Amino acid sequence: MRVKAMAVMERGGPLVPYAYETAPLGPHDVLLEVRACGICHSDLHMADDDWAITRFPLVPGHEVVGVVRERGREVAHLAVGDRVGVGWQRSSCLTCPDCLSGRENLCSENRGLIVGGHGGFASHLVADSRFCFPLPPGIPDEAAGPLLCGGVTVYSALRHAGMTSGQEVGVVGLGGLGHLAVQFAARLGNRVTAFTTSEDKASFAARLGAHRTVVVREGERPRAERPLDILLQTVPRDPGLAHFLDLLGSDGTLAFVGVPLEPIPLPVWALLSKRRRIMASPIGGRALVAETLDVADRFGVRPVVETYPLAEAQKAFDRLRENRVRYRAVLLP
Ligand code: NAP
Ligand code: ZN
Repeated sequence: MRVKAMAVMERGGPLVPYAYETAPLGPHDVLLEVRACGICHSDLHMADDDWAITRFPLVPGHEVVGVVRERGREVAHLAVGDRVGVGWQRSSCLTCPDCLSGRENLCSENRGLIVGGHGGFASHLVADSRFCFPLPPGIPDEAAGPLLCGGVTVYSALRHAGMTSGQEVGVVGLGGLGHLAVQFAARLGNRVTAFTTSEDKASFAARLGAHRTVVVREGERPRAERPLDILLQTVPRDPGLAHFLDLLGSDGTLAFVGVPLEPIPLPVWALLSKRRRIMASPIGGRALVAETLDVADRFGVRPVVETYPLAEAQKAFDRLRENRVRYRAVLLP
């Protein structure tokens, strides 16, 4: 079928209307009619070819909510009419030790939805049904999208950094990922300190569940009231690693989900002196996606969104680039 989409035709170029024909469905594929698609900063990184993996034309979009309209002959667990979500991951080998232990996101053959394939800034999407996730009925389309990449990324990273409850958790950057991280950490019973460069977000952070907010100013050393057990870094650049490491208590963990483009010098002494750890975490495996949706549903974690018609995707992209989105932009058909 013919898909109407918005695509970036060249590195850093604008989003323009673009149409393409879908290939015949593979045995495990489904054809989805797109109902909503969140815009992640990774879509911008891809449009700018920041990671040197983009193939143009690029149809961005990997926080997709869609309804199954057709299914391949092997698809038994999804029915026509089901509402599902698709996140960053398009596929994996499903046979390696990582895949067999629920870490499909770490599979060496894992493929991104928009890496070598078209994404959800479109009327329709062909996706592997094994990477489509049934959505809790209580979460509306525009709120479900951002949970599928942003949500699972921060939930998985916090869990792998050792988050339980009763801990001191910091979140650096209150964008799409950060505003969800604050909610997950707070609603699961932790005391949250939010670090932001935007004055207006500082007052709003309390409504997300933050107990304390610190406005970070260029050249100033950020401070926390108490030593942090976990600090989640969601900013797409080096936030000033050395300063933030000092906010961690003994055995504390700094977890990167934001992707700085340049290598960052490693302050070994700051790590060693309090046996701190640094880790980085990509999205989440399939079990974690399902858990993220379930926890969000039951504990009331809801993305705060701005919605735009698909045709105005460029406007939303511009706002994201200028850090004006509050807090996730979502495209609707
Ligand atoms: P976003 O909505 O743009 O949020 C990033 C936030 O970082 C901004 O809202 C801003 O928060 C802060 N910031 C401070 N300095 C900035 C600067 N120079 N440029 C941009 N933002 C700045 O982005 P996102 O969608 O949350 O994604 C954040 C990062 O995570 C990106 O690098 C993205 O590629 C990455 N990501 C990683 C994974 C993974 O699997 N690890 C998954 C998804 C996304 P304040 O206004 O509060 O300061
Ligand atoms: Zn993403």
